[in-house]
Amino acid sequence: MIKSDAVIRYLNQTKDLYGDQLFLSLTNESTHVDSLDESLDQYFGRINQCQKCQLGQTRTNFVFGVGDPNADLVLVGEAPGKQEDLQGEPFIGRAGKLLDKILSAIELSRSQGVYICNVLKCRPPNNRDPLPSEVEQCEPYLIHQINLIKPRLIVALGRVAAKTLLKQDLPLKDMRSIKHDYYGTPLVATYHPAALLRNQNLKPAAWEDFKWIRRLIRESK
Ligand code: URA
Repeated sequence: MIKSDAVIRYLNQTKDLYGDQLFLSLTNESTHVDSLDESLDQYFGRINQCQKCQLGQTRTNFVFGVGDPNADLVLVGEAPGKQEDLQGEPFIGRAGKLLDKILSAIELSRSQGVYICNVLKCRPPNNRDPLPSEVEQCEPYLIHQINLIKPRLIVALGRVAAKTLLKQDLPLKDMRSIKHDYYGTPLVATYHPAALLRNQNLKPAAWEDFKWIRRLIRESK
């Protein structure tokens, strides 16, 4: 059973993205309207052969996302790196290990209360920044994942993810500490864990962000 407020939210998002035309995705030569009734696994099965942009040609794995399908918190990075491409799971390199430690410090983990994914599902060659054309093709996947999970909060990890989701080309410091909105779900931006590995001085500010993230989730219950 689909709730009518979820349908209205979905149609409003579709209108924001595509104007007055209803978005239909063509998969395996059949036509789909993204359904709020499917599971994340079903959605993965429907899109994991994507060839909408050139990254489909060079990827090893389509890195859909990992975690709790009923998560309160969705973490969004920019795109899979080398290890993620090889293993098909987001944030599993050194940055991912640090992310797991930060999550554990706020009593969360990638299997409980958290879902982790990226704006792009396929690795850009040499980890270059996502191209606008790639984001245009891939962001609807993220939006539908978020619609299926219905988290209380989204966290954009790093400037590239934040500026892509917020459509604001600003330094990260100007996007932090603000409760933004992403198609009806609150979104906050914080440092990418790889930036924390490169610059230890950023860690105290990141810790303040994650304590605020924990408070925002608790207060929303
Ligand atoms: N960096 C990201 O933004 N995403 C990953 O999955 C890994 C590293």
